[in-house]
Amino acid sequence: MRPGHDHDTGAPLVPLEEARARALTRIERLSPADLPLADAHGCVLAADVAAPMDLPPFTSSAMDGFAVRAADVAGASPDRPVALSLAGAVRMGFAADIDVGVGQAVAVPTGGEVPEGADAVVPVEQTVPEVERVLVLTPVPTGRYVRRAGEDISAGEVLVPGGKRLLAADLGLLASAGVASLPVHPRARVGILSTGDELVDPGAPLGPGRIPDANAATLHGCVLEAGGVPVALGRVPDDPAALARALTEAQGVDVLVSSGGVSVGERDPVKAAFGARGDVEFLEVGMQPGKPQAFGVVGGRPYFGLPGNPVSVFVSFEVFVRPALLTMMGRPTGRPEVTATLEANVTGPREKVQFARVRLRRSNGAWLAVPTGGRQSNLMATMSRADGLAVIPAGVETVAAGAPVRVVRVRDDG
Ligand code: AMP
Ligand code: MG
Repeated sequence: MRPGHDHDTGAPLVPLEEARARALTRIERLSPADLPLADAHGCVLAADVAAPMDLPPFTSSAMDGFAVRAADVAGASPDRPVALSLAGAVRMGFAADIDVGVGQAVAVPTGGEVPEGADAVVPVEQTVPEVERVLVLTPVPTGRYVRRAGEDISAGEVLVPGGKRLLAADLGLLASAGVASLPVHPRARVGILSTGDELVDPGAPLGPGRIPDANAATLHGCVLEAGGVPVALGRVPDDPAALARALTEAQGVDVLVSSGGVSVGERDPVKAAFGARGDVEFLEVGMQPGKPQAFGVVGGRPYFGLPGNPVSVFVSFEVFVRPALLTMMGRPTGRPEVTATLEANVTGPREKVQFARVRLRRSNGAWLAVPTGGRQSNLMATMSRADGLAVIPAGVETVAAGAPVRVVRVRDDG
């Protein structure tokens, strides 16, 4: 075997990292769009958002009680309560239009505006309310139970910095400040197409030689888990013209992904459709599974032509498409990784990086990784049972049980 060449076919192999770099060169962050708050969840904010107003917007009470002047009740105790005359009550949702003068109190609910003149709130539990007056049983220091306007954020301060991925608490903060829409890098819309004369819809009757289309479902899930929007483009037979049309004419997508038809088979349509053009390249990548790949531009959009085997699709998405989508959405591309001890030998092709399907478990504070089955790329059950991909570097044929391996955690239980 020649180094850098495929063991089975003798074809030259592009090293994985080089292939990834080539696949990602043309990938750019999507231009910011103004989205309503709810649609912006999970998206990366494209610019700092400054508070258009103070938070909280007005000075309000933190308790149901009475707005008072702290100095008036300094000497209060249960034995010697201070009687204040009740000047009125603040209503929720309205301005406090009564001032608190010396010797006075105004009833105020939690969140109600604290009237002018008051500098503290006595909780109702520490009073004896009467008809025209209230007996205060304890002193309160100045400022107690008063939520000062702007104490959380003042107008003009940065509420959420650009570059931050917006999650629940951020949306709440923005909403509290009255921000209704904001500039974010939108979710990537991903057109998903399956190729193959043999494919039928999952659940449809299988004729001889037919199989259900598994890859459309896999890719739909992969796109959702990456935070993108899957757009089903359906299926085409092994017909280059139909393939080219389906991809070129796809509407409302930022990026295209197809599965199948990228190998050298006579009927493989991707090369027949795009092989003669300069803007789609066909690579034999030094990885297993997922050796044949096509990357390029179709109809002005980045295009990933993944191989057809279901496990190859899953792994190729992980290696090439997921980082592309995250880059488009302005997000970091890394996945959590752990170092784990293999529980059984793993053997792979020496000339390629192998992504071995493993299940992780914790034992005595360490990670253990057990292979979930054979390494053939049609064995989808081994993928479903796995929650990690152990990365076996090129140049290594067997990693023995007991040896450490790097495992990328690919099952997003979020
Ligand atoms: P291909 O890359 O088109 O040569 O396909 C390689 C293998 O993957 C063949 O056994 C195909 O039947 C299978 N395959 C291709 N596309 C799909 C799909 N969408 N769902 C399930 N299996 C597929
Ligand atoms: Mg095919």
